[in-house]
Amino acid sequence: MARQQNVAVVGAGLGGAATAALLREAGFAVDVYEQAEGFSRLGAGIHVGPNVMKIFRRLGIEDRLAAVSSHPDFWFSRDGATGEYLSRIPLGAFAVREYGAPYVTVHRGDMHELQMGTLDPARVHFGKQLATVEEREDGVLLSFTDGTTAEAAIVVGADGINSRIREVLLGPEKPHYSGWVAHRALIRGEKLREHADIFEDCVKWWSDDRHMMVYYTTGGRAEYYYVTGVPHPAWDFDGNSVPSSREEMREAFAGYCPTVQALIESSDEVSKWPLLNRSPLPLWSRGRLVLLGDACHPMKPHMAQGAAMAIEDGAILARALAETGLDDHATAFRLYEGTRRERASRVQAVSNANTWLRTQEDPAWVFAHDVFAEPLRMAEPA
Ligand code: FAD
Repeated sequence: MARQQNVAVVGAGLGGAATAALLREAGFAVDVYEQAEGFSRLGAGIHVGPNVMKIFRRLGIEDRLAAVSSHPDFWFSRDGATGEYLSRIPLGAFAVREYGAPYVTVHRGDMHELQMGTLDPARVHFGKQLATVEEREDGVLLSFTDGTTAEAAIVVGADGINSRIREVLLGPEKPHYSGWVAHRALIRGEKLREHADIFEDCVKWWSDDRHMMVYYTTGGRAEYYYVTGVPHPAWDFDGNSVPSSREEMREAFAGYCPTVQALIESSDEVSKWPLLNRSPLPLWSRGRLVLLGDACHPMKPHMAQGAAMAIEDGAILARALAETGLDDHATAFRLYEGTRRERASRVQAVSNANTWLRTQEDPAWVFAHDVFAEPLRMAEPA
C-alpha cells in the first residue's frame, strides 16, 4: 500500500457528517463511508444547544438551521400529575447573550440534511457497510460488505452504538438494554389547535420513574414532538423500534395532567425504541483507528446532548489533527482523548441519571462551552 494521506470517516450520522466537514475545513482530504443507501426525513426531533450552534456557525449552517427551527424561550420542567413548575431554564435571547448562540429544537432530518450539504458529494460513499479493517504500515485497508475496498491514513469510527470499529478495537459486545424505552410521536400543529393554547414550546413532564419531553420541531409550530422514558423490563422485540399506540401511552401516563392527556389523544402514530447504553470504554483509539460519538460513549438521551457530544468530539479531533498533521496521528489522538474524555463522561453520567434541568440548575457548563476556545490537553499514556 502506498502511503495514504486521506481520512476515512465511517458513518455519516450526526457526528460523522460534522466530523467530516470539520476535517475538510481543516484542510484534510476526507472520504465518508455510510452503510445506508441514502437518508430520509424520519420522524424525530432533536435539541441543538448553543455549544453545537457555535460549531455549525463554523460550518456555515447556523443561520439556515436557526431559520427552520423552533426557538423556545424556556426549558420548563413540570410535575406530570399536578402541572406544577419544577424549573424554568431561560433560553431564547438569554441563551444568545449568555451562551453565545441560540438554543433550538428541530426535526433531526432537517438538521442532518443541512449537515450533509457541507460535504463534498463526490466523497460521500453510500451503500458502504464496513466489514473489516486491516492496519498496515502506511495506512488502513477498509473492506465493505459489497466486496469493495478503500484505503486511508486513519479511520474515524463514527458508526454509532453498534460500531464495527469499536468491535475491531475491543471485541464484540452488544450494548446494554437500559431497562427503559422511548415512545416517540410527531404531531401536526393543526391537530393541537383543536385544544386551547396549552402546549408550551419546550417542556419536560416528570414523575418518579418516567417522563415525557415535548417540543416543536419547526419554526411556525407546524410539528410538535414527544419522546418519553418509560421503564420496561426487557427489549423482547425484533428490530430497532416497534409500533406503539395511544392506548399504551394512556396506560403509561395514567395520572398525568390534562395537557399531557390531550397530547396523547392528538398523536396518530407512536413508535417505541429501546434505550441502549455502554459502560465507558477503556480506550478511544489504537493505532490508526479512533472512535467518536455513540461508537465511543453512548448514553441515554435524557440530557439531549448525545449528538452534541459526537459533534464536539469531531471538532476537537479536527483541531488536534490540524495541530499535529496526519503523520503524527498518535499525538493527535492523545490530545483528542485528553480534551474530550472528562466532558463526554460527565455528560454521559448526567444523561444516564436523568436529572438534567429537573430543578433550577445552571446549565452554563454545557451550553456556554466553546470547543474552539478550549485548550487541547494531552491524555496520559495508557
Ligand atoms: P449515529 O447518528 O447513530 O450515526 C451512525 C452512522 O453510522 C449511521 O448513519 C449508520 O448507518 C452508520 N453505520 C453504522 N454502522 C456502519 C458500518 N458498519 N459501516 C458504515 N456505516 C455504518 N442527541 C442530542 O444531541 N439532542 C437530542 O435532543 C437527542 N435526542 C435523542 C432522542 C432519542 C430517543 C435518542 C435515542 C437519542 C437522542 N440523541 C440526542 C442522541 C443522538 O441521537 C446520538 O447521540 C447521535 O445520533 C450519535 O451520533 P453518531 O454520529 O455517533 O451516531
